Amino acid sequence: MKQDKKIPYKIYLEEQEMPKKWYNVRADMKVKPAPLLNPGTLQPMTAEELGAVFCDELVQQELDNDNAYIDIPQEILDFYKMYRPAPLVRAYCLEEKLQTPAKIYYKFEGNNTSGSHKLNSAIAQAYYAKKQGLKGVTTETGAGQWGTALSMACAYLGLDCEVYMVKVSYEQKPFRREVMRTYGASVTPSPSTTTEIGKKILAEHPGTTGSLGCAISEAVEAAVSKEGYRYVLGSVLNQVLLHQSIIGMETKAALDKYGIEPDIIIGCAGGGSNLGGLISPFMGEKLRGEKDYQIIAVEPASCPSLTRGKFAYDFCDTGMVTPLAKMYTLGSGFIPSPNHAGGLRYHGMSPVVSQLYHDGLMEARAVEQTAVFEAAEQFARIEGILPAPESSHAIRVAIDEALKCKETGEEKTIVFGLTGTGYFDMVAYEKFNNGVMSDYIPTDEDLQIGFNGLPDVPEK
Ligand SMILES: *Cc1c(COP(=O)(O)O)cnc(C)c1O
Repeated sequence: MKQDKKIPYKIYLEEQEMPKKWYNVRADMKVKPAPLLNPGTLQPMTAEELGAVFCDELVQQELDNDNAYIDIPQEILDFYKMYRPAPLVRAYCLEEKLQTPAKIYYKFEGNNTSGSHKLNSAIAQAYYAKKQGLKGVTTETGAGQWGTALSMACAYLGLDCEVYMVKVSYEQKPFRREVMRTYGASVTPSPSTTTEIGKKILAEHPGTTGSLGCAISEAVEAAVSKEGYRYVLGSVLNQVLLHQSIIGMETKAALDKYGIEPDIIIGCAGGGSNLGGLISPFMGEKLRGEKDYQIIAVEPASCPSLTRGKFAYDFCDTGMVTPLAKMYTLGSGFIPSPNHAGGLRYHGMSPVVSQLYHDGLMEARAVEQTAVFEAAEQFARIEGILPAPESSHAIRVAIDEALKCKETGEEKTIVFGLTGTGYFDMVAYEKFNNGVMSDYIPTDEDLQIGFNGLPDVPEK
């Protein structure tokens, strides 16, 4: 491995160098993300309405478009110390393997038991619930990363944690389920008979294996119908992006420490929280006209919300119980192909990321899953880390950009977000290894079905 003497393989921040504030990119956006709307009145959701579902302080953060920096409470900083700072790694081995003049860095968020960046927001949301004197929180989980992260945070703070897990995952991913239970969460397969909406769905579709949309509906009902509970969500919302800005703040601090200026910043995008968090401080500089960066969101070709979706108001869930968010969406009724291995299967996208993309401040690329797993395998073999399929979307585009540099001879500096590890995704890897993984790309007709279901919201 050839190493630049000035740049270590892993850049760590000292404890005293760790960021103590989250950065709220909305403060620097000239065009603010559109507000959440009450689906009944089509009026912006008020703090009071949101407060029935979410914790008070999180509602304030959700609605705050003005304060650029928000202090991270000491209790959260203490928790962050257990697994942060996350290293910024110079991918020297990958560079050598690719024979590229590009310099590649990745921010690794998989160094905690939940295996992803989701713990950054889970601890924040659980903390504010605890501070409000609540008994517990409810949530949904699909593949299980978010449920695991929230279980860990709740265990630490002594909060009750109720997770509605999509039934098919509950049955197919028993290990994720048991990790959550080990951390004290109660895990209910969704749809269930514990909620009215669950009973209704079961009566209408007996034998259904559930969906994320259905699990959200159940978790929201469970929260609002019980004293002392609120609902929490692992992505999409402004507050989640705010918490995830810790990724970008640390990345920027680590780069600044060595005088490194990135040219390209890449992140995978499901609901947009890790990407939004990673790019936030860099986007802030771009919005203030101080610097320019090429920023790329990477999404699966099977669920192409940014590259082929519509920028419109839509429900955040399939059950149509949530407020409306203005975002790039494929329609809340869009069901991505089941064979897709990654967890980037959300129909919509964070309103912040959507607005930035709409305003031409960043790009998006859709990649096919076999190409993603080729990149994952290459990365695992040369850099050692077994990446999550979601994270591997960013790896794919980082490698593509590095190979472009090889052709042009440009020495670009590429930074990408490695959001987590893939130990619980071995069924997907197995398919890839057996050569039976397929690429499914929806046709325009497929997408039209989802668009037809978009709610009718008059433009202001
Ligand atoms: C949940 C998840 C994602 C996608 O979520 P975002 O909100 O888009 O960041 C990406 N990578 C991993 C490992 C995840 O668990």
